[in-house]
Amino acid sequence: MTIFTKIINREIPADIVYEDDLCLAFRDVSPQAPTHVLLIPKRPVESLDGFTDEDSSLAGHLLLTVPKVAAQLGLENGYRTVINTGTEGGQTVFHLHIHILAGRSLTWPPG
Ligand code: 5GP
Repeated sequence: MTIFTKIINREIPADIVYEDDLCLAFRDVSPQAPTHVLLIPKRPVESLDGFTDEDSSLAGHLLLTVPKVAAQLGLENGYRTVINTGTEGGQTVFHLHIHILAGRSLTWPPG
């Protein structure tokens, strides 16, 4: 179990900005931009590598939820979505999450 399951179960606090039956979005504890939200499936999928063909509906739902959360947060100037996968991908919490970053001009390429 990761810290994100504890957030889903309300065992530790988080600033939750969106919730539905399948997913939850909350503000990152260490924001890298003025807006930094994590969107996660409630099911504890370890990473993008944990998805199978049976998860197409959940994967689609997560992706389709991103613009809804962005609109709710008023990110009309744009935002960046990031999914870190595995150690070299920069993943530190092994519960799949989509970073939504906004509120400043983000550079490319990432570090
Ligand atoms: P990763 O490095 O795995 O892509 O991203 C994990 C993210 O989770 C990091 O940006 C980190 O700041 C965030 N994070 C880690 N622990 C907590 C926590 O307890 N609460 C919240 N809200 N975010 C967390």
